[in-house]
Amino acid sequence: MRLSRFFLPILKENPKEAEIVSHRLMLRAGMMRQEAAGIYAWLPLGLRVLKKIEQIVREEQNRAGALELLMPTLQLADLWRESGRYDAYGPEMLRITDRHKRELLFGPTNEEMITEIFRAYVKSYKSLPLNLYHIQWKFRDEQRPRFGVMRGREFLMKDAYSFDIDEAAARRSYNKMFVAYLRTFARMGLKAIPMRAETGPIGGDLSHEFIVLAETGESAVYCDSDVLSLPVPGEEIDYDGDLEPIIRQWTSVYAATEDVHDAARFDREVGPEKKVHTRGIEVGQIFYFGTKYSDTMKAMVAGPDGADVPIHGGSYGVGVSRLVGAIIEACHDDAGIKWPEAVAPFKAVILNLKQGSDDTDTACEKLYQELTAKGVEVLYDDTDQRAGAKFAAADLIGIPWQILVGPKGLVDGKLELKRRGDGTRENLSPAEVVARLT
Ligand code: ATP
Ligand code: MG
Ligand code: MG
Ligand code: MG
Repeated sequence: MRLSRFFLPILKENPKEAEIVSHRLMLRAGMMRQEAAGIYAWLPLGLRVLKKIEQIVREEQNRAGALELLMPTLQLADLWRESGRYDAYGPEMLRITDRHKRELLFGPTNEEMITEIFRAYVKSYKSLPLNLYHIQWKFRDEQRPRFGVMRGREFLMKDAYSFDIDEAAARRSYNKMFVAYLRTFARMGLKAIPMRAETGPIGGDLSHEFIVLAETGESAVYCDSDVLSLPVPGEEIDYDGDLEPIIRQWTSVYAATEDVHDAARFDREVGPEKKVHTRGIEVGQIFYFGTKYSDTMKAMVAGPDGADVPIHGGSYGVGVSRLVGAIIEACHDDAGIKWPEAVAPFKAVILNLKQGSDDTDTACEKLYQELTAKGVEVLYDDTDQRAGAKFAAADLIGIPWQILVGPKGLVDGKLELKRRGDGTRENLSPAEVVARLT
C-alpha cells in the first residue's frame, strides 16, 4: 500500500475528549472516528487491526471445535419474553419498533436466539456436544460510554454457545473454551489472566473473566503473581484429550475480580511478596449456566434412555473491538503504538527519506515490489513529507518494522531496519532486509 493513496488522517494535536492513552492514540493514528457517543466508524488502518484480531479469535475457536455461523443484529422481543429477560435487561437494551409495530431489539448478546435455533433442529443427545459461535456487532446502551472502543455502545463481540447433555459434558466444553481463550490472547501478545468472576445477568454458577492487567482498566482485581508466569498451551493441544490438568494449574493459583474476592482466603493463600492488587481490562468472559435457558425456552433433547432432558449450556464472549484498545494499553510508549506483529495493520513500513530523489525512489520502489510479491504486508511512505515527520508518523502508527531509505546509506548500498518494539537499528543490504522480513 502506498501511503499517498491510503486514507490515514493522522491528528497532530491530542484530542481533548480522550482520557486514556489507547483512545488518544487510536484517534491520533486515524484508526477510527466517533459518529455518536460510543459509536465508531472504523477507518482503514483501524479496520486492518480489527480484522487481524477477529481472525485470531476465529482460528482458535475453530481449533477448539466451535462452528461459526452468523446471526442477525436485530431480534424479536418475543424471543426474549420467553426467557424472561426482555423486561429484566433494563435500559441497556436498545428497543426498536418496525412499521408493523412489531417490537424488536438490537441484540446485546444471543443466548435466546441460539437456543431458538438449537431447539428447532437438535433432538437427540447423539448430536452433542455442539458449540456454535458468531462474530457480530452488539449494542448495549451503556450508561457511560467512554475510553473509545473499550466501552462503546456498538461493539464487536465473538460469542460462542455450547450445548451438552449433562453437567460433566458441559464442563468439558467450558474447559475447551478456557484453553482456547488462553491461546487466543497469548497469540495477540497479551497476558490475559483468567479470574473467578460473578455471573451477572447471564446467570449460572461458574464463570471466569479474562483480564489484561492495566492501571486504566475498569475492574479491580486480586491475584497471586505466580499466575503471571504460567505456561500457555501450544497449538498442538488436543482438545479431545483431558484438559483438566491445565484448568487445575490455572485455577489453583489465586486470581479473582473484586466482585468475588475473598480477602481471608487471599491472605491465607498468598504470601505478602506475591500479592497483586491492581486494575484490569475484561477482554473476555466464559460462563457455565446449566439449564437456565433450556428450562425456560424448552430446549430439550432425547437422552440415551429416550427421555427428554433440558440441555446444559455455556456462553463464551470475547470483546473483539475492545481488544484493539486493550492491546494499545499494553503496547505503547510516548511516541505511539507498538503493535505486536500478529495484529499489526502492516508488518513493515518503508520510509523514503528523500522523496523525489532518483536513488531513494528507485531503491524504495524495488523493495516495495519485492516485499509485496513475497506476501509481506508493507506500507510505503512515498509522500513528500520531511524525514522528521515520517519518523513521527511511523512511530505513532506503530508498524513493527521500519525500513529507512536515505541517500547516505545508499552510497554503501545500505538501508536501516528499525524495530519499533525496542528501537534497535541495523544497517543491512536490501536483500538482507527482505530475508529478515520473509
Ligand atoms: P463490562 O463488565 O466491561 O461491562 P460485560 O461483563 O458486561 O463487560 P460480557 O457480557 O461478559 O460483558 O460480554 C463479553 C465481552 O464483550 C466482555 O468481556 C468485553 O470484552 C466485551 N464488552 C462488553 N461490553 C462492551 C462494551 N460496552 N464495549 C466494548 N466491549 C464490550
Ligand atoms: Mg457490561
Ligand atoms: Mg463485566
Ligand atoms: Mg463480562
